[in-house]
Amino acid sequence: MKKGKKIYEGKAKIVFATENKNLVIQHFKDDATAFNNQKRAKIEGKGVLNNRISEYILTNLSQIGIKNHLVKRINMREQLIKFVEIIPVEFIVRNIATGSLTKRLGIEDGTVLDEPLIEYCLKDDKLGDPLISKEHMFAFKWSNKKEIEKIDKYLHRINDFMVGMFRGVGIKLVDFKVEFGRYKNNGKTEVILADEISPDTCRLWDMNTEKKLDKDRFRNDLGNLIGAYQDVARRLGILHEQSNIRPIKFTKPKAVKFKKNK
Ligand code: 5GP
Repeated sequence: MKKGKKIYEGKAKIVFATENKNLVIQHFKDDATAFNNQKRAKIEGKGVLNNRISEYILTNLSQIGIKNHLVKRINMREQLIKFVEIIPVEFIVRNIATGSLTKRLGIEDGTVLDEPLIEYCLKDDKLGDPLISKEHMFAFKWSNKKEIEKIDKYLHRINDFMVGMFRGVGIKLVDFKVEFGRYKNNGKTEVILADEISPDTCRLWDMNTEKKLDKDRFRNDLGNLIGAYQDVARRLGILHEQSNIRPIKFTKPKAVKFKKNK
């Protein structure tokens, strides 16, 4: 599939057109951002790991009936995906309270939730991805009841599957963010899982030590993000000891002032 012109560049990925209008190429960059872009760094090798980990998770999810945008991984950094219109909502599922939930509601960090908690945030960096309700989505036509009913079911199934998958390799799935899109094909539109699922978009804690194996290592200056992502990939069996991913240097980000703490 020939790579065409760039059609979108986000914080961690670039999307290129192909000769097929229904398919695009998703390129994983090494850029890491946090706190709505106020903290930035390039972390060599992150894109390669996220490409592999996301491919692994999305492939497994499609095998349990969660339709998603992945067609196939093309190379170390790129995937061929279905071109979707992204629903402008970040769908968050939490199993353990931490991050913005604890700050917003004063819940004690690490509280295990009785049931998975779903939250919806408007995907808008300028506004700091604010928390919204279903009624906001319906009122402003960001989505509709039919889509959200399907997405809510998907979220629970994705969570159940991923909790089990990670538990099997000694990792707690604390929370994660996913995105969905509308895929138009042959006059039909269906909602499918899009974007990526990786340590950039999940909180993953080692089962025994609670060591953070996710992007919080970057957000909170814990260091060795690549070592943690490699650990996740290795445990999932997708990165072998003799990997051709080069040793990675972690570039410490410059000090920044935070306006909003998300
Ligand atoms: P929180 O709302 O606590 O900051 O994040 C909850 C979960 O969603 C975490 O796993 C976090 O990584 C993910 N998440 C929320 N917003 C974003 C975002 O804008 N980008 C990424 N990569 N992950 C996000």
